[in-house]
Amino acid sequence: MKREVWVYLESSEDGKLSSGSKELLAQGKTIAYMSAPGKTGLRGILAGGCAGKLEDAAREALLNGAGEVTVIEGEELDTFSPECYSDAVAQLLARPSENSPSVMLFGRSPEGMDLGPALAARLNAGMLSDCVDASPAADGIVWERHAFGGTAVAALKFRDGDLPVVSVRPGSLAAEKETGKTVEECHPAGGNCHGIDSFSYVPVRKIRRPSLIRVMEAASMRGADIGSADVIVAGGNGAGPEGFALIQELADLLHGAVGASRIAVDKGWAPHSRLIGQSGRTVAPRLYINCGISGSVQHIVGMRDAACVVSINKDPRALIFNVSDYGIVGDLHRVLPEMITEIRRSRN
Ligand SMILES: Cc1cc2nc3c(=O)[nH]c(=O)nc-3n(C[C@H](O)[C@H](O)[C@H](O)COP(=O)(O)OP(=O)(O)OC[C@H]3O[C@@H](n4cnc5c(N)ncnc54)[C@H](O)[C@@H]3O)c2cc1C
Repeated sequence: MKREVWVYLESSEDGKLSSGSKELLAQGKTIAYMSAPGKTGLRGILAGGCAGKLEDAAREALLNGAGEVTVIEGEELDTFSPECYSDAVAQLLARPSENSPSVMLFGRSPEGMDLGPALAARLNAGMLSDCVDASPAADGIVWERHAFGGTAVAALKFRDGDLPVVSVRPGSLAAEKETGKTVEECHPAGGNCHGIDSFSYVPVRKIRRPSLIRVMEAASMRGADIGSADVIVAGGNGAGPEGFALIQELADLLHGAVGASRIAVDKGWAPHSRLIGQSGRTVAPRLYINCGISGSVQHIVGMRDAACVVSINKDPRALIFNVSDYGIVGDLHRVLPEMITEIRRSRN
């Protein structure tokens, strides 16, 4: 039986492979290499209501390192729900096959954070979330994750026989880039439509899931996704709605994305998809400008991997300054317009 690392992939609205999934494939490659160099395959798993819509994403996955991709399709998968999706992946795992996963990887996206634990519960397996590193051991892989708000690192191993279900923090483990080759070059043997196969999902029992009462317009914001942005301008409780208008303006100027602290999200100034921290996303941009954020441990765990941190806060004792490369003590409503004007002037 051939062992594989399985990576759960996500596609964006336009049917493209999400940037997080590309990174997860690179991380999966590292894990496959650790498991048994040259002997462990890498399989991407995509799921959706209509397999045709996932064709582009599947091909992109092959270009980004997947040896094979399985597309799960089924009517019940039209809208994401952890109940149906975990049932579908569990069915795929149970199908007789020559390949079996030695680990199942998920990204730290909202979908991955919903699905990973649901699948682990469905399989009665263990789940490690938000792993930041891994190393090979004689009898498996040792996974590392932060504990106690990031002040300690826990090294953990799965019991023999359990399928490890793991979510990986973006920016951790080695990340190899796109090969730049065509699908045919990556998969010269062809067959199986160059490595893509499909699996039809039909629930064998009624899946109970929360009924969708109505679809509300999703709160959205201009600019890149915070998971892939090189520049993030984030706002907190000190910003207010007017502050967020300035933050968006600065983010647009720097071709970046807007991020937010939990209080700012709770107050409705930014959508949940922009939340950075323990209960939101972990980001690692090249530049992280934060405005009116105090620097709670729950926020810092989400942004401390940024290469350069610039903090604007009117309180010189704000904790955020302890993790900043540059600090500006001042009122963001005055500092941001000056920064915006200066950047515009320097470009003219
Ligand atoms: C289980 C749990 C999970 C959590 N998860 C997260 C998470 O994922 N992400 C997260 O962010 N938080 C999270 N929190 C909340 C966290 O504890 C803090 O409450 C939150 O991060 C504070 O947000 P803030 O810094 O925007 O607000 P505050 O702590 O209120 O800080 C506001 C800052 O703005 C400054 N300020 C005010 N006015 C101005 C101005 N005009 N100009 C410049 N500066 C100004 C103030 O000096 C202050 O430092 C979590 C909490 C718990 C218990």
